[in-house]
Amino acid sequence: MDICINTGYDYKVPVMQSLGKVADAGFETVCFGMRHEHAGYHLAGARARLKARLREVGLRAHAIHAWSILTADAFADVDATAAAERDLVVCLEACEELGASILVVHPHVWGNPTPNVIDEEIRLLERLAVEAGERDVRIALENVSPDTAETHLIEMLQRLPADRVGFCFDSAHDDRSSQPLELLDQIGDRLVTVHLSDRSPKLGVEHLPPGDGHIQWAELTARLAPLDFGDVLFTEVGRGGCVDQYPEVPAYLETVYARGRWLAGMIEERRT
Ligand SMILES: [Zn+2]
Repeated sequence: MDICINTGYDYKVPVMQSLGKVADAGFETVCFGMRHEHAGYHLAGARARLKARLREVGLRAHAIHAWSILTADAFADVDATAAAERDLVVCLEACEELGASILVVHPHVWGNPTPNVIDEEIRLLERLAVEAGERDVRIALENVSPDTAETHLIEMLQRLPADRVGFCFDSAHDDRSSQPLELLDQIGDRLVTVHLSDRSPKLGVEHLPPGDGHIQWAELTARLAPLDFGDVLFTEVGRGGCVDQYPEVPAYLETVYARGRWLAGMIEERRT
């Protein structure tokens, strides 16, 4: 199993430097984070440089995290929807060029979207799924918010084509749910990728290195082991919440990599 990290672990580290540090820490793959201006993956010139840098340091691109979030504003009128869709198509083009097989999207599933917004969003994602298919990319809708949002996420997945649109399980977001891990039972068959990080409600932080919060990793990995999320274990972390504990970037990355290996080991052990 390969271990992946998001370039958004610390946006203060310039992306070209960051890719070198990530490779030095042992990671095999990387996901370009949500702030597209950091990596510049929306720009053709920057994409070419990223591609060359990935090759140079021996990393593969696993996924891209779409910068545009499908908020209700995206469905306010046809122009807003067209603009949101264009942004997502640019993300798909970046995936294709960088060799990333997954586009992670934050759907509009928090609060109480009206049925109309859900319908509009499903139509947009249906069109995007066609574009994704042409580029051999899969779209992964992430669990962003708990409870009612989970119900909407499940409904959306049921109405979207399973071969192109699946589920991205985020452990820190899931931990805010009133029924953690239930989503893995409900839509685990649609799993495409995982975002594994820890959460400390006491400290009020999430996206900590796995093992630094209160998530029960033995139970979580036992639930993940029978599911198919490809061969990539993605630790989606943020140094902002624990910078005092990890003042040096290289040591931080080495810790996250080791924790990723620890989780992969538990999953692999259960699979044998
Ligand atoms: Zn996530």
